[in-house]
Amino acid sequence: MGDVIQIENLAVFAFHGVYPEETKLGQKFLLSLTLHTDTRKAGRSDDLKDSIHYGELASFASQYTAAHPCKLIEAAAEQLAEAILLRYPKLRGVTLELKKPWAPVGLPLETVSVKISRFRHQVYLAMGSNLGDRKGYLDGAVRALDATEGCHVAAVSSYIETAPYGGVEQGDFLNACAELETLLTPEELLEQINRIEKEAYRERTIHWGPRTLDLDILFYDDLILETDRLIIPHTELHKRTFVLEPLKELAPNKRHPILKKTVLEMLQECEQTAM
Ligand code: AMP
Repeated sequence: MGDVIQIENLAVFAFHGVYPEETKLGQKFLLSLTLHTDTRKAGRSDDLKDSIHYGELASFASQYTAAHPCKLIEAAAEQLAEAILLRYPKLRGVTLELKKPWAPVGLPLETVSVKISRFRHQVYLAMGSNLGDRKGYLDGAVRALDATEGCHVAAVSSYIETAPYGGVEQGDFLNACAELETLLTPEELLEQINRIEKEAYRERTIHWGPRTLDLDILFYDDLILETDRLIIPHTELHKRTFVLEPLKELAPNKRHPILKKTVLEMLQECEQTAM
């Protein structure tokens, strides 16, 4: 599935380990990287600027590993994968194996290793505010999302005025959608969203009531997820014109992974039911 560039068993000297001698003296680790990236353009142009410079990347990985000692190779691998994805935007993902030869467990083993795959994810968020400086809250949410570690706001829709829903007497909403690139898991993203909402002093007193800022995860790639805390795709998105209308600006052809309808089709259905 997809193109990859592979680097195998790059020897890196680092100070990872739980034992004092490991952190003091350091030791050799072996690093293998599978870089998930589309090589088609570079394949046709034969031009390095269309690809990822694997020499530069290997050198970055080697220096990063030496400079960021961890107790666990799990942590070393996690941090390095994130650093690589943040530095190389052309990478869709990375599979990284960090081997520790002759791990000091008093047994004649050859290597111990961890192998992880980490990918960039595409998320669509709905944003709404109907209290105070509504535009200020939405602008602030975009800034806060973009400033969140491992998140990048790729696009924001226009802000639209909408009448309140849910039957509670309150002011009009300002609604919008944002496209986010993220390295966070859905649960981690929810935590960050909750933090940003709290920072906007959202009052959770009346259900469906006025809110300075409401952020919802609409889509996370094509993931279907249902836990106690999180349902993705968002359960109401296909019924809400005020979500679908701004979403149409960003992703008219995005298909709902359960309903199998595009954003445009869902919006047209919503508008027909409202007539
Ligand atoms: P509300 O403020 O009414 O949007 O509800 C927020 C709560 O709904 C969050 O704290 C989540 O635990 C839960 N929730 C379930 N699914 C989602 C989703 N897709 N996006 C955001 N929150 C969700």
